Amino acid sequence: MFEYERNKLIETIRKKGIKNESVLEAMNRVERHLFVPDAVKSHSYDDVAVPIGFSQTISQPYTVAFMSEALEPEKGKKILEIGTGSGYQAAVLVEIGLKVFSIERNFNLYSRTQDLFDKLKIRAALRYGDGTLGWAEFSPYDGILVTAGGPEIPGKLKKQLAIGGKMIVPVGNRAKQSMLTVTRLDETTYDVKETPNFAFVPLIGKEGWKENR
Ligand code: SAH
Repeated sequence: MFEYERNKLIETIRKKGIKNESVLEAMNRVERHLFVPDAVKSHSYDDVAVPIGFSQTISQPYTVAFMSEALEPEKGKKILEIGTGSGYQAAVLVEIGLKVFSIERNFNLYSRTQDLFDKLKIRAALRYGDGTLGWAEFSPYDGILVTAGGPEIPGKLKKQLAIGGKMIVPVGNRAKQSMLTVTRLDETTYDVKETPNFAFVPLIGKEGWKENR
């Protein structure tokens, strides 16, 4: 289903500058409409963020591609995602061949996505909780993706990044963020590259925004 729309979306993303073929191929295989609620299904293959309930959104496909590419993904690498949401980004990472751990703070979204992953037999470890604290048990991670926007780079996540690993994290105010690509060079040194103009839902937690404005 929707093969034509999916192909067109991949071409759009390619034109916007995404080059990594393993990312583009994975996004061409994962059926995004399975992660989008019925009411907005017809927008599954538009290059836009779509509401998934509980005031949250499934990220824009270009953003998913950008973050996946920035990770410099290679089969077998271990990735931690903060903000499971619909599960689409996690499913794309699994399809690329990565080992995926993902945390969601909204219990309804966590359990809905766990059910979907069981049904679709998507192998990823999902956890309910505050992702700004990371998931120490399985650290260090070769890559960390934060798919909600916070005020700063969560310190606990920096510590759970492997040396040579990359964290992709939107940082800014509640409305607009820059995407930071943080590479851990050694025990104490991190290189940071910034790409402006992204808009995510807020990262809420101990090392994110407070729940109330
Ligand atoms: N990667 C998701 C994007 C969902 S939007 C997708 O592909 O659909 C971001 C998600 O981050 C929301 O579901 C929100 O509930 C969650 N979130 C916000 N703060 C969080 C935190 N501290 N820990 C875990 N999840 C968080």
